Amino acid sequence: KRVGYAIVGIGKLSAEELIPAARTSEHAYVAALVTSEEDKGEAFARAFDLTEDDVYTYDEFERLAERDDVEAVYIVLPNSMHREYVERAAKMGKQVLCEKPLGMNAEDAQAMVDACKAADVLLMTAYRCQYTPEHWTARDAVQSGKLGQIRTVDSIHSHVEDDPEAWRLKIDLAGGGPLPDIGLYSLNIIRFVMGEEPQWVFADLHQPEGDRRFEEVEERVSWMMGFSGGVVANCLTSYASQDTSTLRIIGEEGSVLMDPAFDYQGLKLTIEDDEGKFEPSFPAYDQFTNEFDHFAQCIRQGRTPWTPGEEGVADHVVMDAIYESARTGKRITLKPVKEKDAFR
Ligand code: NAD
Repeated sequence: KRVGYAIVGIGKLSAEELIPAARTSEHAYVAALVTSEEDKGEAFARAFDLTEDDVYTYDEFERLAERDDVEAVYIVLPNSMHREYVERAAKMGKQVLCEKPLGMNAEDAQAMVDACKAADVLLMTAYRCQYTPEHWTARDAVQSGKLGQIRTVDSIHSHVEDDPEAWRLKIDLAGGGPLPDIGLYSLNIIRFVMGEEPQWVFADLHQPEGDRRFEEVEERVSWMMGFSGGVVANCLTSYASQDTSTLRIIGEEGSVLMDPAFDYQGLKLTIEDDEGKFEPSFPAYDQFTNEFDHFAQCIRQGRTPWTPGEEGVADHVVMDAIYESARTGKRITLKPVKEKDAFR
């Protein structure tokens, strides 16, 4: 039996990616929608074979408790609302998939993990890039040792945010600027590919004066992350640079280049090792369908998702340290954290 999801928030991501992606899911389907815009909700319901009874307002959220067919709730709201809705969903005993960044900071994210544990429900952070064959192949290349000792890593994720009114530019709604929104992909995927946690960070942040967009949040963050063996990752994220999404890992005997590295589609992976240069290709897939399916299977099998809430917390710990470093001008040492087991 497929797992029924309630999608909470029908913004751009839900409308353009998630709701359509659920259609091609083998293990999941959309059973209900939660939105403040009733017309929009009903239009989506009609288009996706639901009825108006399947559309709820935020105030009616708790009525999902009566819906046994809604086993999972997918939170797709502005970042500051994630915690409240994750906690409310957990209280109803629903399994929870939550968009990234998990919370507003490490403390907020940890409270979400604790709430789901206390309610005995699963919590997954929606890190779509950890469900693609390209990123797994990059990780395997690094971890198999075929690139030799890894020496350096770099990643850029940027785009231009034009609208000064966007919630993404409001500190109370977003928790930060490009770092928690798109820089997070560089951070999360470097941790994933390296298979280890950074030991320290050092950062610089730019918040230009006189630009209405950046009154509350940074325009750009550059940061270094130190890993074991003297490996350093150099990362940059910006809301005022042309669309860029790259990842490069250079070892003594080979390298991995992804460009684009974090887009929804058309990821391009190049691996160079002592046998030559390869551009592996993979059967068509959808990152969001993979996420829906993975979490649905975890629910059925009672197992922890590959990117649980703890994975969201781990990134927040590093992001908090990045902001602290930018604020103080100091290199911040991170506490060691335990590694997790691989799921395949
Ligand atoms: P959006 O602005 O398009 O949609 C936000 C939704 O929240 C809308 O339905 C809006 O009505 C609702 N909302 C409720 N209260 C609001 C408020 N006070 N201000 C603004 N909107 C409010 O945003 P989005 O791009 O769909 O992002 C939603 C979440 O998804 C964010 O956490 C974001 O980080 C995440 N996201 C993830 C990816 C990914 O690739 N995984 C991509 C885009 C967004």
